[in-house]
Amino acid sequence: RKLGVALVGLGKYSTGRLAPALQQTKWCRLAGIVTGSPAKAARWKQEYNLSDKSIYDYKTFDRIADNPDIDIVYVVLPNALHAEYVVRAAQAGKHVICEKPMATSAADARRMIEAVQKAGKKLSIGYRLHFEPHHREMMRLGQQQVFGPVQRLLADNGFKFNNDTPWRVSKALGGGGPLMDMGIYCVQGCIYTKGQVPVSVTAKFTPKTDPVLFKEVEAGVNWQMQFADGSVADCRTTYAENMASRLRADATKGWAELAPAFGYGGLQGRTSQGAMNIQNVNQQAEQMDDFADCILRNKPTRVPGEMGLRDVRLLEAIYRAAETGQKVSTKEVAAVLDKV
Ligand code: NAD
Repeated sequence: RKLGVALVGLGKYSTGRLAPALQQTKWCRLAGIVTGSPAKAARWKQEYNLSDKSIYDYKTFDRIADNPDIDIVYVVLPNALHAEYVVRAAQAGKHVICEKPMATSAADARRMIEAVQKAGKKLSIGYRLHFEPHHREMMRLGQQQVFGPVQRLLADNGFKFNNDTPWRVSKALGGGGPLMDMGIYCVQGCIYTKGQVPVSVTAKFTPKTDPVLFKEVEAGVNWQMQFADGSVADCRTTYAENMASRLRADATKGWAELAPAFGYGGLQGRTSQGAMNIQNVNQQAEQMDDFADCILRNKPTRVPGEMGLRDVRLLEAIYRAAETGQKVSTKEVAAVLDKV
């Protein structure tokens, strides 16, 4: 049977991507929604033919425990709310997918992992690009050293933020600005292309172009991640301008690049030997089907909570490096989860 997924938070990503993707999955189906808005509940009920018993609000959410049609709770809320709802979903006895960044602190991420472990359920992070064929190819080329060892990586991901979702520039709700939201893709992309976790980071905030909009969070940050073998990754993220999204790896005998790299589709890849010629896929459908397969066949997910925690710790290190101007060691993070 198809596993039932309940979406928690019916914002842009749930509405524009996840619900449509659930119509294309092989092993999942939309089986519930959690929303604070009665108007949205009514719209979704009609559009997706949902019954009243599969519609929850944030207060009745815990009753999801009594709904056998829901196997997976997918938390798609502002970043700072992920922890509470992942813990509550685990306590309701459900498997959980949590959007990126997993949490706004490493302490919260640890709590979330423990809660899901205690419930004997599985936890994965919404890292859709692990299931995307251009990114799988970057992993293969980099990790198998097809062009020799990767010596330098470049990753850019950012856009001009128009304040349509104000929580993204709220320290309390976002946990930070573009680094938490967009920069995390650069961290991920460099790690899985190199096949290693960096041992240190240096970073610098970019100027606050709009001091009112960026009162609580950074406008942008440029950072470098250093790997144990001396190779480096130069990364940039911003909310102050539209930035071409890019992931590039230069190895001793060739190079590979994705541009655009991090969007939902239209990705294009090239290497020193020519175009990649890889088809784009529905990333969210692939991601959710893979998690369903992990549950149905009791396999570990490629994007576990531990990976989410690792990345939150790296983001914290990048912020510390930018705030202090010092190089920050991430050797302890690298030691915890070097599997990518
Ligand atoms: P959004 O603002 O469009 O949606 C957030 C939803 O949460 C809204 O429906 C809002 O009503 C609800 N909400 C509940 N309590 C809230 C509160 N206290 N304050 C504000 N909103 C509240 O945001 P989004 O773009 O859908 O992002 C949601 C999550 O999904 C974020 O963690 C984001 O990082 C992640 N995301 C991931 C991807 C991806 O490609 N994996 C893409 C977009 C967003």
